[in-house]
Amino acid sequence: MDIIQKAFLRRALSVEEIEAVLSTDRYDEALFKAADLTRQRYVKRDVHLKGLLEFSNVCLRTCHYCGLRRENDGLKRYSLSPDEIVGLAKKAATYGYRTIVLQSGENREYSVGDFCKVIENIRALNLSVTLSIGEKSENEYRAYKEAGANRYLLRIETTDKPLYKALHPSMSYERRVKCLKILKKLGYETGSGSLVGLPHQTAASIAEDILFFQENDFDMIGIGPFIPCENTPLSAAQGGSFDMALKVMALVRVLMPTINIPATTAMETLRPNGRILALQNGANVVMPVITEGEYRALYRLYPGKVCVGDTPSHCRGCISGKIRSINRDISVTNGDSERFIIRKEIRRAV
Ligand code: SAM
Repeated sequence: MDIIQKAFLRRALSVEEIEAVLSTDRYDEALFKAADLTRQRYVKRDVHLKGLLEFSNVCLRTCHYCGLRRENDGLKRYSLSPDEIVGLAKKAATYGYRTIVLQSGENREYSVGDFCKVIENIRALNLSVTLSIGEKSENEYRAYKEAGANRYLLRIETTDKPLYKALHPSMSYERRVKCLKILKKLGYETGSGSLVGLPHQTAASIAEDILFFQENDFDMIGIGPFIPCENTPLSAAQGGSFDMALKVMALVRVLMPTINIPATTAMETLRPNGRILALQNGANVVMPVITEGEYRALYRLYPGKVCVGDTPSHCRGCISGKIRSINRDISVTNGDSERFIIRKEIRRAV
């Protein structure tokens, strides 16, 4: 049986088979068709819009690829106050968002108690809360869950252990995997993901990333091309390509039919209308930025980030129009993935 047919029918491939798909363009047409068919069948036409609030660019980590890294002293730093965060979430609710994604560098700018109050106040607005704030202790994750946080995004970035070690000084791959397991155990709808096009990353290691996502049965997977950033150790690296990131994303959709997959901002940065192309090849989520003013540009993970001069209401209107133009609908649900809904149903039933 052809590899793409096998992926479509069995939802399982070996490392070698995934590597073969990634190493040639021979399978591309069939892969993209299979990804879109899978999306249509399992997660339908709805696109979940989630408001991404980049509330602090302060980071204590030194990841080699990231513009927010502590050692980048060319970046003006900011941290919004708890009241400002809740205020922007309130505004986002008026534009129609049902989920707020709170993302920041990994820092200690907020006490656990203060951050719990932020979560409680946003939940009181009838909004779901997704956190993307890095590695924390089990107690801290539990406190945020008890305060009402619904979901957590923590990309593994790469499952290639030597590469992970080289790119993340003073961090540990094992610790990151443990964080993901804790998040799942605590009942978060858990998302992970990876960067595509890191220096020394191979097709085999990307294949291992995909198998890692399946083995851990995540609810959401975000795939983004690596984009080299100034003032980082990888500023002169080649960077990932839109086409390869799209292929990896499409493979993830075929192999994990019921999860949520965002059309990432990094994809739009590399290709005009990249998010729409992603939606047509397996994605079912978009996370427009709801950060305001100068902070949009200061959350500079990489150069060329799109929409930094726009307002949140403009972005919401712009992306909604594009989504409707490809005959898709804006979801009116709270944005849970089918995977998570099924998981809850099974737990209740058995
Ligand atoms: N600190 C949190 C964490 O570690 O999960 C969340 C913030 S972090 C800046 C969000 C994501 O940005 C990372 O998971 C990484 O994949 C992505 N990112 C960072 N630098 C990037 C770059 N140069 N190109 C593309 N994506 C990048």
